[in-house]
Amino acid sequence: MDCIFCEIIKGNIPSTKVYEDEFVTAFNDLNPQMPVHVLIVPKKHIASANDIAEEDAELVGRVFLAAQKIAEKLGLENGYRIINNCGEDAGQTVKHLHFHMLGGKTMGERII
Ligand code: AMP
Ligand code: ZN
Repeated sequence: MDCIFCEIIKGNIPSTKVYEDEFVTAFNDLNPQMPVHVLIVPKKHIASANDIAEEDAELVGRVFLAAQKIAEKLGLENGYRIINNCGEDAGQTVKHLHFHMLGGKTMGERII
């Protein structure tokens, strides 16, 4: 299997890690869209949000618990936005479940 995020998790491809625990890892996006743009990635390979199984329910919760810790570490006390792109219409390019954590300035434009 050829998955860039699995390779990052294994340490075979370099990344700027900002957080890691037993379940998830988080690193800076290569192409940041905000002052803070972190990708929170479950260590288990799950192709997309649409492929989350019943047994992964707790793991998804772990992503948001990690987000709280990252927010504290990176000084996002004013808030942040978490986005998941699922599938082609949403523009998902990496087929390993990940959550964009964006912050560091006030977000004006709203999609939803
Ligand atoms: P998505 O469009 O939701 O699949 O987002 C994939 C994200 O992964 C994009 O924002 C890319 O900039 C980012 N990305 C791709 N390769 C790397 C990498 N090697 N290290 C960090 N971020 C990456
Ligand atoms: Zn993977």
